[in-house]
Amino acid sequence: MATIHTINTKCRHKRPIVEHIFLSCFHVGSAGFHEKRWREEREKILEKDPRYANVWILGDEIDGISTKDSRFELGGIADRYHCNDFMNLQINDFVDLVEPIQPYLRGILDSNHTRRFRKDSSFNPTAEIASSLDVPYLGTTVIITHNIHPLASDRVWSERLFLMHGDPTGARTLTGRVNFMRRASSAFQPTIVAMAHVHERGAIAETEVLLLPNAAGTDFKEIERTVHYVIAGSYLRTYMVTEGSNAGYGEVRHYAPSTMGGVSVEMDVFNRDIWERSRL
Ligand SMILES: [Zn+2]
Repeated sequence: MATIHTINTKCRHKRPIVEHIFLSCFHVGSAGFHEKRWREEREKILEKDPRYANVWILGDEIDGISTKDSRFELGGIADRYHCNDFMNLQINDFVDLVEPIQPYLRGILDSNHTRRFRKDSSFNPTAEIASSLDVPYLGTTVIITHNIHPLASDRVWSERLFLMHGDPTGARTLTGRVNFMRRASSAFQPTIVAMAHVHERGAIAETEVLLLPNAAGTDFKEIERTVHYVIAGSYLRTYMVTEGSNAGYGEVRHYAPSTMGGVSVEMDVFNRDIWERSRL
């Protein structure tokens, strides 16, 4: 079942830009986790004002692959986690890596990597991470109402966001992925839809015009509606230079190289304008 969640932003700035930042697929524990890239992007987030920058983590926080998992490849797991207590170690390391941006975090989603572990053990690593960071755990799908209250007026600007980790089957093209997001979110009529899972960063806006007949049925009223579709990238490299046969499951399965990094959607409060950027 989807989660319902509300956040409020009070704008006391002269010309505030309110931002939503989508991060995903850190895969802490994997040999391919690109820690350097994460630390660089973390610095960019820390330059922002935490009152106006909202960070959402869309899943695959840790790699969480155990020996029971069909994706298990010894070479794909960083040496530090070759131990029985790898899950707690991955959780603690993820929390340490993300903790500096805690004031920006608005929610953390569950995903396929930890779901498999959860089925085996009834322990939910993502909920554990959320509780350690004191951030809402949002389950697998969440619909968010974002109310923006500018100081200069008593009108509230409300937008809906629809966030999910993504379809486990995944579409192979950008348009296929947008179709998937459109289908999954259409009943909720959001302004921003974000998914992750496919490790391919991107953002696209689609405007549609609804033609609604007037009461007399003699003319149409045009309502323009723009939806911003976002695919968060990852911090997991598919291919690395390794010795011998030490390949991770991405390389074994011949996945395309991942697109690194997070995606941002910015909202200009006074002009009521929204635009997406395909990177931070
Ligand atoms: Zn992932």
